[in-house]
Amino acid sequence: MNPDSYEAMLTAVQEFHDKHGFNASGSEELTYRVTLMTEELGEIAACVSKGKTKAALAEECADLLILLIGTAISARFDLQQAFWQKIARLQKRGSRLVEGRVRVSEFRDP
Ligand SMILES: [Mg+2]
Repeated sequence: MNPDSYEAMLTAVQEFHDKHGFNASGSEELTYRVTLMTEELGEIAACVSKGKTKAALAEECADLLILLIGTAISARFDLQQAFWQKIARLQKRGSRLVEGRVRVSEFRDP
């Protein structure tokens, strides 16, 4: 298996869930997972707002990615397929500057 593939990442996260009995203990319940993801997003924010190292930021982003993949396992959807479907939609959207920052969205002006 290609270690850089989504399949390898999915397998590693599934093994992590199995090792710690996430499913059997109810720890794949979605509101619990949203709480965990929120915690990790807060840790990412702290890395930025507190000027932590790039390595620390990368670690927190990896935590969130692992949780996202785990949420796909828990909710039984194909995150890889969802990613490619969404990026295809995003690539078709326009962008504009909003207060000096690029915003990509489906702009619906009246
Ligand atoms: Mg973390």
